[in-house]
Amino acid sequence: MKALDISGLAKTYKGGVQALKGVDLTVEEGDFFALLGPNGAGKSTTIGIISSLVNPTAGQAKVFGYDLHTEKEAAKACIGLVPQEFNFNQFETVLQIVLNQAGYYGVPRDLAKERAKKYLAQLDLWEKRDARARELSGGMKRRLMIARALMHEPRLLILDEPTAGVDIEIRRSMWGFLKEINRQGITIILTTHYLEEAEMLCRNIAIINKGQIVENTSMKSLLAKL
Ligand code: ADP
Ligand code: ADP
Repeated sequence: MKALDISGLAKTYKGGVQALKGVDLTVEEGDFFALLGPNGAGKSTTIGIISSLVNPTAGQAKVFGYDLHTEKEAAKACIGLVPQEFNFNQFETVLQIVLNQAGYYGVPRDLAKERAKKYLAQLDLWEKRDARARELSGGMKRRLMIARALMHEPRLLILDEPTAGVDIEIRRSMWGFLKEINRQGITIILTTHYLEEAEMLCRNIAIINKGQIVENTSMKSLLAKL
């Protein structure tokens, strides 16, 4: 099964910036996949399109076989997104934030509470459940975004620069957590501009530059070439 299948994806923003110029990409179910590229390469745009936040100008995208255009709701239900920017209500508590997300996806309340406890504990946030988001450190906020993205138990977790601005210790523990949930079967796609991060985590990699995929290979063969 393909977790992601995109072809000919293009995006020209209003104002004329050609962020994507015909991107083809497939990611198999179960993979841990990196989209690597410098700032401005088109990573966030690609992820935005996959997550239905940005409309492509041209091309096709399928998530677990669901067409993003014609089967948007089914596709969205498969995806958990960890955006780059903190986008939660800073005055809500950690627990409220994850429970609201579950509610948004129609997860029954009891199940939502169970999952909240499980994911917050695994991400070292259970003790902080009654703290307001604005009281959390940067690393905690990032982990909260991961917990929130998992509340509807998506088949595909997408993370946009997940460890940007996170110190090395927290980064390592986040990496460990991501590896573990991938082992349990969740497909993961992350964007990064650190080769080291991709190397630590990912089996397959695509390199994007100026809106085009310039390399798409296994991590092993990329490292062998360098
Ligand atoms: P990356 O995530 O790799 O840094 P982006 O997808 O954010 O790259 O950006 C790709 C290009 O599109 C950049 O030139 C950026 O300035 C531009 N861009 C991104 N978002 C928008 C937008 N909403 N409107 C106009 N231009 C944008
Ligand atoms: P879409 O075509 O997907 O609706 P828009 O072109 O309307 O996207 O841009 C979305 C928003 O992003 C706009 O409000 C725009 O002001 C903002 N934006 C513009 N340029 C950039 C940029 N370089 N990077 C990020 N966001 C941008």
